[in-house]
Amino acid sequence: MTLNRRELLKVVGASLASLAVPSLNWAAQSPKYYTLPPLPYDYDALEPSIDKLTMQIHHDKHHQAYITNAINLLKSDAKLLEMPPEKLLMDLSVVPEKDRQGVINNVGGHVNHTLFWEIMGPKGGGEPTGALAKAIDSRFGSFDKFQKEMSTKAATQFGSGWAFLVVTNKGELEVVQSKNQDSPIMNGQKPILGIDVWEHAYYLKYQNLRPKYIEAWWKVVNWKAVSEKAATAMKG
Ligand code: MN
Repeated sequence: MTLNRRELLKVVGASLASLAVPSLNWAAQSPKYYTLPPLPYDYDALEPSIDKLTMQIHHDKHHQAYITNAINLLKSDAKLLEMPPEKLLMDLSVVPEKDRQGVINNVGGHVNHTLFWEIMGPKGGGEPTGALAKAIDSRFGSFDKFQKEMSTKAATQFGSGWAFLVVTNKGELEVVQSKNQDSPIMNGQKPILGIDVWEHAYYLKYQNLRPKYIEAWWKVVNWKAVSEKAATAMKG
């Protein structure tokens, strides 16, 4: 039997896949809190605010890398690996000191990005309604003032990091800056909206123009998702 190129590739692919089975066995039982959540929309769904290639690399490569690194840090202690990541970030004392910064970076990276995909969406933008709108007005004066504060904090975060809208442990809204992948959860705050201002989040399309990216990002914020998170966070 003579195989053409396509058929040959199929056969080679199949045998490679079967070779990979032993190492995939472990992945098949990969810890439930440490699998890449599928993007809830297409890679190009946030165009033109965020381009398809940025979304592909950001979700498939960057987010996956945080997860892989987190697993490698935690896998020697099943108890840690089976803890909800948020719980781990709330009490880092359970993590051996030598691994703590790695956990901050990578478990933080996993949790931050999971939030990031959820609070964006096609047909996003505009302003929130209902209880969240009221809470924003009463805390910041108006939606515009809130937006300005969050944009400024995102634009002026020096180097890599985030700006988050959080619910504090007193149940109040606050906008905070965060360096690297530091999660507000470590400070007892519940992030309900976050903008990633690492260069990997915008550089392909916006290069050095971070404020342009921030301006475009507001157009893809999924306020329904943010409102649901706010309601849950405020319940305590
Ligand atoms: Mn990122």
